[in-house]
Amino acid sequence: MTITTPDATTTGGPALPQERRLVTAIPGPKSLELQARKSAAVANGVGTTLPVYITAAGGGVLVDVDGNSLIDLGSGIAVTTVGNAAPKVVAAVQEQVAAFTHTCFMVTPYAGYVEVAEALNRVTPGDHDKRTALFNSGSEAVENAVKIARKFTGKTGVVVFDHAYHGRTNLTMAMTAKNMPYKDGFGPFASDVYRAPLSYPFRDSGVDGAAAAARAIDLIDKQVGADNLAAIVIEPIQGEGGFIVPADGFLRALTEWCTANNVVFVADEVQTGFARTGAMFAVEHDDVIPDLIVTAKGIAGGLPLSAVTGRAEIMDSAHVGGLGGTYGGNPLACAAALAVLETIESEGLVARAAKIGDLMKERLHALQERDARVGDVRGRGAMIAVELVKAGTTEPDADLTKKVATAAHARGVVVLTCGTYGNVLRFLPPLSISDALLADACDVLDEVFAVTA
Ligand SMILES: *Cc1c(COP(=O)(O)O)cnc(C)c1O
Repeated sequence: MTITTPDATTTGGPALPQERRLVTAIPGPKSLELQARKSAAVANGVGTTLPVYITAAGGGVLVDVDGNSLIDLGSGIAVTTVGNAAPKVVAAVQEQVAAFTHTCFMVTPYAGYVEVAEALNRVTPGDHDKRTALFNSGSEAVENAVKIARKFTGKTGVVVFDHAYHGRTNLTMAMTAKNMPYKDGFGPFASDVYRAPLSYPFRDSGVDGAAAAARAIDLIDKQVGADNLAAIVIEPIQGEGGFIVPADGFLRALTEWCTANNVVFVADEVQTGFARTGAMFAVEHDDVIPDLIVTAKGIAGGLPLSAVTGRAEIMDSAHVGGLGGTYGGNPLACAAALAVLETIESEGLVARAAKIGDLMKERLHALQERDARVGDVRGRGAMIAVELVKAGTTEPDADLTKKVATAAHARGVVVLTCGTYGNVLRFLPPLSISDALLADACDVLDEVFAVTA
């Protein structure tokens, strides 16, 4: 089952052959051995989707300890957007690691942090005066966006949406919708968090964006009240919740209501940011300018970094010393982030993401024509999903989704699942993947759907 693609991409890490190559079963014997050691050494709560242990990655492939080369349609959950071990990222980090590894920006600062803040202020939507603060993880940045919105408004309530995912820390567990596996038994959760209905076109037919927004706003008005509300936090396209793209006008109506009511509109672009959706940020598709934008995942090519960027008057409302953390804006992560932004711009990756979306959607729509279990094909750019249902209904089919993912894994294609009902197969290829690898991955998916009952 070796397929060698001649047009090995120029982006992406070590010059790995850009091929799907299976030399053992998946997972292979060395991976199984490591997985046994994992079970004995690593806490059970830390799961693994596909226990193949990786030794190298780049372009569109992951290479494991057994010598298999798998096509990567996950990017480590939308993180290695510019490619794994992308050359400019590697060079920037190598230079920085040899110079100094840490000082703590809150003690003796360095230029890299300031340069990342300047860059984020420049590339995020809106030409108003902005400020940025850097953190380590998406969850930590979401928590800080809430802190800042509360300080600025003097109010405490936070509204989030059905199917939302905002993280696994205490406040963000409260904000995340799904109980298993994210919340079960881990409460009590932070208070003053309220959940509003989303716009979910596949399960919401006949409700357009304006009507869905009116439904959400009515609930917010009646159950929370604008006078108690600091922020609305929303993913412009939901990630873990199922790659749900709200109907046109939904996000815009929410921002307008926020502006009229002194409520901070926070876009959680942790998964959608940095060219992923065929725009630098997903809110651009909806002509929305958030007050605060939260970023992480794709920001630094795999180094841990996150950010809150937004209106200067909101960001600056927090007192000196009120924001920060020991590692926030670590120099290695900042060097990587600057290289990521340069790579996105110099390699035209926003357009590349849009192209990947066109290629995948064409194949997936063709699959949907043949297979009635593919209820919905959706997403934008290189953030694409299929929602699987019992043929001819909207009844979720989590069992089929699991089977399809497992069969794809066995054939050397790394795919992820998501969704409240566990019935969404999601695709997040690195933007450094070649057309040939992408086509091969789609062939595998076609085959998997054909043979899976
Ligand atoms: C992954 C994710 C988070 C949490 O980020 P971590 O770095 O895992 O803490 C928050 N929001 C969204 C939309 C995410 O996809």
